[in-house]
Order: sequence, then structure tokens, then C-alpha cells
Amino acid sequence: MAIIVQKYGGTSLQTTERIRQAANRIIGEREKGNQMVVVVSAMGDSTNHLEQLSREVSSCTNGREKDLLLSTGEQVSCALMALALQEKGQAAIAMTGEQAGIEVEYLHGNAKVTAIHTKCMKKELQKGKVVIVAGFQGVAANGELCTLGRGGSDTTAAALAAALKADRCDICTDVDGVYTADPRVILNAAIYSYMDYDSLLTMAEMGAGVIHPRAVAHAKEYQVPLVIRSSFSEHEGTWISKDTSISSVAGVTYQKNLCHVRLFGRRMKKEKILRRMKDSGVIGTKDVHAHLDELLAVVKKDDLDQTISMLDSYKDQLGVQTIQTEIQKAAIHLIFVNEEEKRKQTALMNEKKFMPLEDVHSIDSHPAVWSVSVQEEYGSDMARRVYDVFMTENHHKFPLAY
Ligand code: ADP
Ligand code: ASP
Ligand code: MG
Repeated sequence: MAIIVQKYGGTSLQTTERIRQAANRIIGEREKGNQMVVVVSAMGDSTNHLEQLSREVSSCTNGREKDLLLSTGEQVSCALMALALQEKGQAAIAMTGEQAGIEVEYLHGNAKVTAIHTKCMKKELQKGKVVIVAGFQGVAANGELCTLGRGGSDTTAAALAAALKADRCDICTDVDGVYTADPRVILNAAIYSYMDYDSLLTMAEMGAGVIHPRAVAHAKEYQVPLVIRSSFSEHEGTWISKDTSISSVAGVTYQKNLCHVRLFGRRMKKEKILRRMKDSGVIGTKDVHAHLDELLAVVKKDDLDQTISMLDSYKDQLGVQTIQTEIQKAAIHLIFVNEEEKRKQTALMNEKKFMPLEDVHSIDSHPAVWSVSVQEEYGSDMARRVYDVFMTENHHKFPLAY
């Protein structure tokens, strides 16, 4: 019997009606003779709502109680999904991350999965039950519940699929598959029928919200066939494996809610600063004036406080005299299949060509990615321009399903 892991995202579970519809899909797979493990996210945008509640009572952005709070969203969905399946006559059991045997590192708000003990899930599968697991959570060795970072249910699914040696891991979402760019921003983006792990990993790392980057890394490590597909349509989705026929550019990604951190100092230890910044999740950097002692870093608004306090604590050691921040920035990334392809296209990539604005900076982000940062108000226009120059003309070169 094949084991299939299916993950349903928030939009796919927004209402009880949608939960019942997803339950029908699960039963459909079960009736084909597959054993089913289903990972669920919180309903709709309830995780945002829970975050808002925590902000109303506390300025603490991460921690034990915040994880306890956020993880409830997935527990609601998983209990409701099991009840919906049982109501339709399909035996099912709901499990928290801990009950499913998901062990994680002890890090609130962004823990990595370290081990999965599959015994309990396998016992229930043997009894003919569909196993429903609450995504986005696990238990650390000290017994503490930790969450996996926003979008982390994808990672739960890929990690479970790897541990169970599943035949397939479906990420069921609100688009038909992986596109060459976010189809809600770039309306003429084209859908991939198949794609390789590495290209998807880079797209995800650079902000393509369709899948959590750690999920792709788990699937790649254990060579789990991954399918990104819609919860609503019959489209066959995008199949991810190790083979590719993408020749040069994989896609464009666009990130909002970013900030600039500008560092000034006569004798700044730039190399050291850049290394520290990379380690603390900075999106991109630029040595603005090689001789004028200014560095620019682009960070997520959510990471700003952490970055500033890291810099503050090493300020003297790193030779930083002044730190300035600017909000409402965006970044556009052009994802090449490798460094070599990026190098070949360098001549085309003059940022001024795309938009003659003062405030456009090309930034260093990832070896295979060309990135610019821009004022947020121009971000989506800039993304469309970059897309038109590099992608629209080249659609015929990709393994796309139009
Ligand atoms: P879920 O709740 O199912 O996890 P998400 O909102 O996290 O769904 O991810 C799906 C969304 O990802 C889509 O609605 C789409 O707007 C966005 N997205 C961003 N980049 C891409 C891309 N390259 N291909 C497809 N969707 C993308
Ligand atoms: N519910 C969590 C979030 O909104 C995890 C997930 O959906 O994957 O980030
Ligand atoms: Mg998601």
C-alpha cells in the first residue's frame, strides 16, 4: 500500500464547508487504496489573529507562551478534520505534533525538525485510519512545545513524508502549482508542470510564499516526490523532483515589509559585519561606498528589532558609529538556476534600466540571484518590469503548462 502525505493550507480550511470538501478529497485518495497522513494548517488567517491577540497584551515577539498560543490554530483544524472524516464514515485520528512523534530543536518561534518517531502513526495507519497531524509544531527534548516558523506546516508535511518514506507529498494550496512568479502580482506568470528541488528551494528562500524553504530542503534530502497542487481544482499541479529542464532563469520573487539598515563608521569591520548579518537572516547587503564607510542591509520588518539589538551589542567591536533605519522597502529577486547563468546575464542587469529612480539599489543576496531593493510603493511595478524583461520573452524555453 502506498503512503501519501497531504498538507492542506489555511485557505483550503477557511470554513467548515472547506474542511468537509478537503475531507472528500482525502477519502478519494483513501479509496484508491492509499494510506493517508494529512497535515493541516490553522483555519484561514487565524494564526495572524492569534498573533494580533498576543500583541494586544504583550510586546514579546517570541517565546514559550506565544508558541503555546499560535499552535492552537493547527489543533483546532486537526480535530475538526478528524471529526469531519469520521462523520463521513472514514476512520481517522487527530494528533498534535508531539503525539505524532515530531521532535524539534528547543527554539521558540523558528525550530527545526530534528527527528520523527513514526511508530504511533504507523500503528494507526495499520488499523485503516487516516492520521491527521497538526502542522507547524513539535516537542523539544526538554518537553517544551516549539513552533516551526510561519508557513511551517509545509515543513511538517515534507518531514513526515521523508520519515514515513511516503510515495508522494502533496502540498494542497490555493493556486494550481508553482508559477514563474506570484500569480497574484504578475498576472501573466506561467505555471510549471515540473521543476527541480534546487530551483524551488532558491525561489522559496527568496520569498516565493508558495512553500516553506525548509520543506523543500527535507524533500530534497530524502528525495520525496513533492507535488504543489490546488485544493480546489483538478489541475495536476507542479511535480518537484531532482531533474530539471529549466535552462537559465527559474523565476521572479517579490518581498514586501522590508527595512533598510544603514551603518556608518570610519573603521567598520565590513567583512565581519557582513558575515554576522548573513547569519542573522538578512536578505541582502550592499557596500554602498567602498571608501565612504557605509553599509546597507535589507532586513524583514519582523527581524528589525533583533538585527538592531545584535548590531548594538557588537557596535564598538565592529567599528559601527551610527545606525539608521528606513521602513517600507521591498525587494525583487531574479532567480537563476546557478551562479554561472547569473554571471552570463550580468550585462543585462543594470538596475537603472528597470526604473530610473534614485532609490533603487542592487544588493548582494544569494550567489544565484540578482536582487534590487526599492521603495515599497514601486515594488510591484518593478517586479512586473523585471519579469517582462527576463521572463515573458522566454516563456517558450521553460517546461511550462500554459
Ligand atoms: P497556504 O495557506 O496553502 O499555505 P500560502 O498563502 O502560504 O498558502 O501560499 C500560497 C500563495 O503563495 C499563493 O496564493 C500565491 O499568491 C503565493 N505565491 C508566491 N509565489 C508564488 C509562486 N511562484 N507560485 C505560486 N504561488 C506563489
Ligand atoms: N499556521 C501557520 C502560519 O500561518 C503555519 C502554516 O500555515 O504553515 O504561518
Ligand atoms: Mg503556506
